[in-house]
Amino acid sequence: MNEQSLNLVKRSFKEFYFKHTNYVETPNRIEEREFGYMQFNGGMIRHLSFKNNGELSAHFLKHIPSDVYYSCAYYINPTAPMQEKIFKGADLIFDIDIDELALICAKDHEMWICNHCKNVMGEKQECGKCNSMKVEKISLTCDNCIDAGKGELKKLIKFLQEDLGIQENEIKIYFSGNQGFHLHIYNTELESLDPHSRADIADYVMGNNILPDSFGVRKNSHLVKDVISKFPNIDDFGWRGRISRQLMKDDKAKPRTVQKILKAGYLRFKTELDDIAREIGAHIDPKVTMDIHRVFRMQGTLNSKSGLMKAPCNAIDTFDPLTNACVLTDEEVLVNVRYSPKFRLKERFFGPFNDQKVKLPTYAAVYLICKGLAEV
Ligand SMILES: [Zn+2]
Ligand SMILES: [Zn+2]
Repeated sequence: MNEQSLNLVKRSFKEFYFKHTNYVETPNRIEEREFGYMQFNGGMIRHLSFKNNGELSAHFLKHIPSDVYYSCAYYINPTAPMQEKIFKGADLIFDIDIDELALICAKDHEMWICNHCKNVMGEKQECGKCNSMKVEKISLTCDNCIDAGKGELKKLIKFLQEDLGIQENEIKIYFSGNQGFHLHIYNTELESLDPHSRADIADYVMGNNILPDSFGVRKNSHLVKDVISKFPNIDDFGWRGRISRQLMKDDKAKPRTVQKILKAGYLRFKTELDDIAREIGAHIDPKVTMDIHRVFRMQGTLNSKSGLMKAPCNAIDTFDPLTNACVLTDEEVLVNVRYSPKFRLKERFFGPFNDQKVKLPTYAAVYLICKGLAEV
């Protein structure tokens, strides 16, 4: 981004942090957390610690970061180097990345941008203008993306509440500020889980590694009667019941279902289980959940990939991230848009634009600049 664009983004972020100190949500047990932030010139500062909200706000008002993070872990010495921090526990966290859902709408708002000359292309290829191979995928978020993300959130919450016994008041949900949702769990018992157990939880909600063997179906020969007796009922707990409900309407259909499965064979059933898991499992990024030393984006701060805020989502159905997370001013600025498909922010639609000068409200101008699609 050119200097004027950078100045606009910085100025808007600064104004936001000065005006809206109330949005920044201080994490619990603040003194046990490690904080870090990205600077607009690119450097990451880590291993910071604050005693209270006042200290935290004062620091960020002084430095105006492009992105703010804090550890999901609690440490005895949060400012020490990693090996001396002394881990006390960590919130269990989940990340749903809409970009990973392979949605049909992606083709309408996905593009590749050359890192070198900023040429925008419709598909991933060598830059046609400067022949650079360094191209980066950019995507704008549409209403279909948001609905799909919410669908994954709902599936995840169902697993957490029904299967893992996590209470509604222990779960906090946020729009990430760009193309995803974050879910934080505050539960003192889960806090002490090691990365291995967290990976197991990730596998569980995703439905990874569900084998025909746990339904009594083995690779070698077996008696139909045996399999029927081991086959789950539709109201069984967890994945067994869930799979069963996908395969049959009621338990009376069990003999017919089992016969069909055995006739098709082990491998065919394995594929069917994988398909069901993909459909009803929650699509999360398992790396985020298992990493206990991760610094996670702080709620109520701005995301420099979009200029949108990591915003709390209290009621999933009515939450509109493109409105609720859009917190910069609507003062108009003139920008040169290289290219942009039609997109929505707040109640307004913008574009499509193709190499043209347009007057946009600051929030929309910053959005396109942060995406690499426009300059002041
Ligand atoms: Zn190029
Ligand atoms: Zn979309």
